[in-house]
Amino acid sequence: MEEQMIAPCGMNCNLCISYQAMRYNLNSKGFHRKYCSGCIPRGENCTHMGDQCKQLAEAAIRFCFECESFPCKRLKTLDKRYRTKYRLSMIENLETMRDNSVELFLKEEKAKWRCPECGAFICCHNGLCLQCNLDTLRKNRKYRWNEE
Ligand code: SF4
Ligand code: SF4
Ligand SMILES: [Zn+2]
Repeated sequence: MEEQMIAPCGMNCNLCISYQAMRYNLNSKGFHRKYCSGCIPRGENCTHMGDQCKQLAEAAIRFCFECESFPCKRLKTLDKRYRTKYRLSMIENLETMRDNSVELFLKEEKAKWRCPECGAFICCHNGLCLQCNLDTLRKNRKYRWNEE
């Protein structure tokens, strides 16, 4: 289920380098990346929120917007880092899901992160499609959104 790829913190795991590395088996292509099948599929919170939140650790809620502390300080810190470096906002994602629906959010994500060449999701951690632009990452393993 596509919905399963959206983590409780609002991250779309489809965009994550650890998920894409697993999906495209980058370690068989000369990389050494950690693999992750996604927060919900692997049945464990990702290191973003990890053991930092009791509610998430105990799976007491599906999404952070259901929490009375939303958006808490930890989520705000994570959100700021992602807005600054990776061009996405977990808090905005969560608000879209809360105020509209998860379906609408997924539809918007597909359009927003679509690789113009192959249609797959590009990676938010570097701005590349790891099917079409793998050479760019091979040449510069720290490549991030065309920034030096
Ligand atoms: S590392 Fe975190 S964001 Fe990335 S796929 Fe795993 S759970 Fe999702
Ligand atoms: S918003 Fe609530 S559930 Fe989400 S990380 Fe913060 S305290 Fe935990
Ligand atoms: Zn592509």
